[in-house]
Amino acid sequence: MLVVTANGNRLKTDALLGRKTPQERDMEIQLHNTASRKKEVFTPIDPSNVRVYACGPTVYDYAHIGNGRSFLTFDLLFRLLRHVYGEDHVTYVRNITDIDDKIMDRAQQRETTIADVTRETTEAFFADMATLGLLEPTHQPRATDYVDGMIEMIGGLVEKGNAYLAEGHVLFEVKTDKNYGKLSNRSLDDMIAGARVEVAPYKRDPMDFVLWKPSADDQPGWDSPWGRGRPGWHLECSVMSEAFLGQTFDIHAGGVDLIFPHHENEVAQSTCSHGGAAMANYWIHGGFLQVEGEKMSKSLGNFKTVHELVKEWPGEAMRLHIMTSHYRQGMNFSADGIKEAKAILDRWYRVTAGVEAGAVDEAFLTCLLDDINVPGGLAELHRLAGEAGKGDAEAARSLKASANLLGLLQLETKAWEAWRPEGLDLDEARIAELIEARKAARAAKDFAESDRIRDELKGMGIAIKDGPEGTTWELMS
Ligand code: AMP
Ligand code: ZN
Repeated sequence: MLVVTANGNRLKTDALLGRKTPQERDMEIQLHNTASRKKEVFTPIDPSNVRVYACGPTVYDYAHIGNGRSFLTFDLLFRLLRHVYGEDHVTYVRNITDIDDKIMDRAQQRETTIADVTRETTEAFFADMATLGLLEPTHQPRATDYVDGMIEMIGGLVEKGNAYLAEGHVLFEVKTDKNYGKLSNRSLDDMIAGARVEVAPYKRDPMDFVLWKPSADDQPGWDSPWGRGRPGWHLECSVMSEAFLGQTFDIHAGGVDLIFPHHENEVAQSTCSHGGAAMANYWIHGGFLQVEGEKMSKSLGNFKTVHELVKEWPGEAMRLHIMTSHYRQGMNFSADGIKEAKAILDRWYRVTAGVEAGAVDEAFLTCLLDDINVPGGLAELHRLAGEAGKGDAEAARSLKASANLLGLLQLETKAWEAWRPEGLDLDEARIAELIEARKAARAAKDFAESDRIRDELKGMGIAIKDGPEGTTWELMS
């Protein structure tokens, strides 16, 4: 309800009374917070600027589909927040780690420069994420542009007694932070036992981690009060999140593998730099992706880059396949799974051809609001598709709007149907000709001929299906 005050300001009485508006109640998001290990109602610090940070890629190689899954999870969160708080009221930062020993090694292997490796890989990353239908984050800062800020933060930590110098390195002294281990819920002993921490003679404690390390002459480096060197990995996120989102922001996201040590270390750096102010109020972690039931690894030969997969499958089919698992669960990426997702999208595109998006379905939205329960939401989309298939135009409009919210059904139906795997050499005019000839044979009740044509198409790797909209064809797998 709105009231107009004497000086003409329009005020929300509900907000004045600390009550939630009906709209706020209906669109309340619940998120599982790693920090509390509970599902909580999400309350932003400032609803007119909801602030999210996700740890981005280290750009030394093509993104694999596991990376794709994590960034897709954060994209779904971004989309949901934009839906609830408004498109212009969400700031999403996803960094680019463009300084790292893996990048240096790759440049050496390829006998090229670090700048070349990071530029090419970053471009490929942007292209791959666009193919998976990810929205561009609001900001995508590169770590190398924030080294000054990192040097400043390290200086502050040394001054406060949280960091010390040892053999050209600056190390964060974990013992000085009584909250260290809280986010990942581990004791120091657990951490030492469970983690592969780098043991180095110059560390006061094996858990102490690097803020700054010296660079050899042939390694990239920046001048600093501790000599020429480069930052440790954890530091960049503390500095870039503060630069764009302030000391305390709403949501920090990452893959589950980042909780420890990366996020634990980020929290230590930020809270000690900021007089104890929390870094983020909610921590969201995405589960891992496996391929055909196995951990993805180069040695198993099941390492799938997005770059390769998009030649075989439409990005939206991969997107839908990945979304069939809840983001906190593990997910099994499989050829059968993508095929099934493609078939579902074929159908959804058919029943929404030429349809304008209507209102987002309520039952669907209720699922998303409940800790981004996309699999639950997809069940509602199947229901809508069933109704749309029976001619319910309202259901078709709602299906389109709801699928759009998930980044699906983004194309015109014709463009979707025109998609072909890369390198496929198909004589589509000949296929259309054969389908016409078969239709004529059937009309003339020459079933021997119509069967022969079906077999000829089969020989070309084409399966045909007779449906209410006529005969359609698809590639046989
Ligand atoms: P990286 O470039 O290795 O730092 O990883 C970028 C993001 O991908 C991080 O959020 C990781 O947690 C995530 N990630 C890496 N491997 C997987 C996987 N197999 N499944 C899901 N997420 C992953
Ligand atoms: Zn990070």
